[in-house]
Amino acid sequence: MNRRNFLKTTAATSAALTLSSAHSAVSAAPKESKPKIMVWAHAHTDFLGEDDKVMAEFEKIRESGIDIIFLFVHSHPDDNQAWYNASINGFVVQDRLSRTINFGKKAGVEIHPIIGGIKDIGLSEANRKKRSYVSGKPGGSSRDGRFCASWQTTRLSSLRIASDVINNHTISGFHLDYIRYIDTGMGIKWPCQCDACKQNYERFLGKKDIASFDLQNPGMLFHYLKVRNDNITDAVLQFKKLANQNNLKISMAARADYFGSALVEGQDWINWGHAGLFDYICPMNYTTDRDEHRDLLKMQLNLMDGKAGIYSGLGRKWSAGETKTDDMIRQADDALNMGAAGISIYHYHGLNDKDFAALKEFSKNI
Ligand SMILES: [Zn+2]
Repeated sequence: MNRRNFLKTTAATSAALTLSSAHSAVSAAPKESKPKIMVWAHAHTDFLGEDDKVMAEFEKIRESGIDIIFLFVHSHPDDNQAWYNASINGFVVQDRLSRTINFGKKAGVEIHPIIGGIKDIGLSEANRKKRSYVSGKPGGSSRDGRFCASWQTTRLSSLRIASDVINNHTISGFHLDYIRYIDTGMGIKWPCQCDACKQNYERFLGKKDIASFDLQNPGMLFHYLKVRNDNITDAVLQFKKLANQNNLKISMAARADYFGSALVEGQDWINWGHAGLFDYICPMNYTTDRDEHRDLLKMQLNLMDGKAGIYSGLGRKWSAGETKTDDMIRQADDALNMGAAGISIYHYHGLNDKDFAALKEFSKNI
């Protein structure tokens, strides 16, 4: 048990971490001695079964050169399942993290739990609804009912979950996913109408009710996006502070389309990289098209300008497609040749014996 008090540790570091102070402390990303290979995995579907079987999986993971597993340890965004030893009211707990960390230790593979960046737990239905995205789209949107990141209480709750994981497990790092507004594809067409967003609109745009028409005005769009990016940056700074206080590595899954998705959703990960807020940044560059992967990564590396390591996210199997083993390895090779600090594969459950054998060969030569 590695119990540390979140409130005490937070209060102990009184100096505020700001984006500008972080920026001024950064020169260039420290070079890792060897490119890293990471993989995303899920505690509710992976590493189950008898000890011998799981240990054999971990030996295979190590032999294939995988250094770090980013492990989903709670449901996101809507449900209440915790697959770590949670002590937060509202979670239904089934601790699968303790066992996985032990296997990782034996095999020499780090397990970094994934924290869903915008999440709360234990709310009444009414309170949940109040703090959720309201699109105003006729007939509703699939995004309605997902947590809106404009609520500071929700952003602080995500931090509470990270602290709970740190307090109840000995870990060497954690990973942020969904650290953004989750009104994907809707943010400009159907700007959120929840109470917190309306307060922001009144303060920064001069009126409570806005629609996509208002956001055709460049100045209004600028402020609209700035408020969203400031809100998420505020959360990231607090996660960074928590990581520093506990001497942990911090990493994130980033939207691949920086201008079209990330910035619209408040996820200015290039700026965060320049400010040194992350040890590993993993843009989800999932595509079956080798050229598209190269184009995405080239833009990202140009923008990052060496200030932070980029670990190109390669999709082996994801919701929109899958690559073949050889294609995945070609993309991995491209990534390192272009200057990425490593690769991150989505996802463990999609990897078969051929993939592990190919990764083993690949990792020998890096
Ligand atoms: Zn909202």
